[in-house]
Order: sequence, then structure tokens, then C-alpha cells
Amino acid sequence: QAKLDGKGHFAFYSHEINQLAQEKQALENALREAIENHELTLSYQPQVNLTTNTLYGVEALCRWTHPKHGSISPAKFIPLAEETGLIHDLSQWVLKEACEQLAHWRRQGLPIPAISINLSAMNFHDAQLKNLIIDILNKNQLTPGDITLELTEGVLLDATAGVVQQLEDIYNAGIGLSIDDFGTGYSSLSYLQRIPIKELKLDRSFVTEISRDKTSRTLSEATILIGRTLNLDVVAEGIEDESQLQALIEQGYNIGQGYFFSQPVTAESLGNWVRQFVAQ
Ligand code: C2E
Ligand code: MG
Ligand code: MG
Ligand code: MG
Repeated sequence: QAKLDGKGHFAFYSHEINQLAQEKQALENALREAIENHELTLSYQPQVNLTTNTLYGVEALCRWTHPKHGSISPAKFIPLAEETGLIHDLSQWVLKEACEQLAHWRRQGLPIPAISINLSAMNFHDAQLKNLIIDILNKNQLTPGDITLELTEGVLLDATAGVVQQLEDIYNAGIGLSIDDFGTGYSSLSYLQRIPIKELKLDRSFVTEISRDKTSRTLSEATILIGRTLNLDVVAEGIEDESQLQALIEQGYNIGQGYFFSQPVTAESLGNWVRQFVAQ
């Protein structure tokens, strides 16, 4: 029975906090086991070249189905992995799995130009990242141009000299770098002068509002202009309907991704999607 005095409240809250901490600890342990026991999977979403109607690439998105709690969103378990340092093992697994899958699709004759992989800021602080990736590429007989690394502006916000060096090394090795969720993070654009970027991904929030909101429309137009001027590929993410697609094409966008084309799906379904897409 909860008491209404100060002492009672304190006891109540400390119990709650304790319970939250325990739940978090349990989730952390579960995630550690999930990584070790290969309970994670990857979903894949196509990226379409809107001008040529060809496949531009495929983004790999991590999925975790907990034996008891069911599907857990990456928006929840990626931050947990970052807080606990599990992100190193997780990203290593994602890189390996995505590259093995690309090699597998290629052996099946599927024309998949490249695969995009999301990495966290912490991954770029790992001095061995580039070597790890090169090693995985070699093992799968892939080339550096076969993968693109997606990073958010947060990586650049607190980029140490070591991180900048790492990004340059990755670029010099021929691996593409993409700024994910462009327009929502770091407010300074000066990193575009310093970091060798290949691609910008216009954040979904601008695409969602493009038909309704003038500011979103203006910002998406500004983004394609920046991309064109700096000779970067610009991907519009989160396209869900025809009117958004048309608005983006009118602004000059030529690469799109979103439910309009396909949701993120299993490797097998992605293979089938690509077969249909190239046949049409
Ligand atoms: P993101 O990289 O920006 O990925 C795009 C998110 O939007 C994905 O959510 C995708 O499923 C969703 N999406 C794609 N098209 C549409 C659309 O048309 N409409 C709507 N409403 N949503 C769409 P998801 O898979 O839940 O991933 C969320 C975020 O979690 C990702 O955002 C990324 O930041 C992170 N994430 C996912 N997988 C990984 C991973 O392997 N490693 C790391 N470090 N982060 C990951
Ligand atoms: Mg992404
Ligand atoms: Mg994004
Ligand atoms: Mg995101």
C-alpha cells in the first residue's frame, strides 16, 4: 500500500527506478545473447534510380525478435547497444551478414549494385573499422565500391582527429560514405568541406510533409541543390505515395526509397522483388 508521506513516495520511486534498471539489465543481457546466438536478422529495402528505373542499391536494416517480448524496434535496441558497447559486436555482425548476403545475391545473378549499412558514431572511433571492413569484403570477393556506410550528422558533431582520419581512410579505400537523416542533425554544413561524402539521404520527415508544408518543400529543394552543386548522390527516403514521388522528381531528385517501392523485407523477398523489378 503506497503511503502519501515523503518517505512513502521515496520508497515508491526507488522501487520503480530499481525495476527499470533491472529491466534494462535484462534487455542488455538478452541483446548480448541475441548477438552471440544469431537471433538478429537483417531486412533489406531497395533504393531506386527514378530516372533510369533501375536499382541503385539496397539498405540493410537490423531486426531483433526477442523470444519473449517479440519484435523490438532498432530505435530501442540500437541506443541500448550504443550505451553498453555492444554496438561493436552488433555492427561487426551486420557488416559480415550484409556482405555475405550481397555476395550470395550476386552468385544468383541478381543485379544489385551496392549495399548500404548503418553504423553508429562509436563504430568510427574504433581504429580497426576500416581493416575489419576490408577483411570482410575480401572474404566475400567484394570490392569497396560494393558497400556504402550510412552515418548520421552526430558522428561529425564530435569527430575527433582520429574519426576524421578514419573517414578519410575509408573514403580513400573506395568505400562510400552517406549522411543519413540529412537535415535533422548537426546544424553546420561545414563538415561537407572536410569529410569526403558520396551521398546525402534527405530525412523522411521532409518527404512526409512535402505535399502539405512549404518549409519542408523548400528544405528538400535546398538539399537537392546542395547535392547537385557538390556532386553528391541524393537519396529521398520514406517515400510512401505517388504525390510525394512526383514532388521530389519535380525538384530534381533521381534516387528514392520507401514503402511506395517496398517495405524492408527478408533477403529472399528482396531477391524476388529485384527479379520482378528488372523484368518489368
Ligand atoms: P534509418 O537508417 O534512417 O532507416 C530508415 C527507417 O525508416 C527504417 O526504420 C525503415 O524501416 C523506415 N522506413 C523506410 N521507408 C519508410 C517509409 O516509406 N515510411 C516509413 N514510415 N518508414 C520507412 P527501422 O528499420 O525501424 O530503423 C530505424 C533506425 O534504426 C534506422 O534509421 C537506423 O538509424 C537504425 N538502424 C537500423 N538498423 C541498424 C543497424 O544495423 N545499425 C545501426 N547502427 N543502426 C541501425
Ligand atoms: Mg539508414
Ligand atoms: Mg534515415
Ligand atoms: Mg534514422
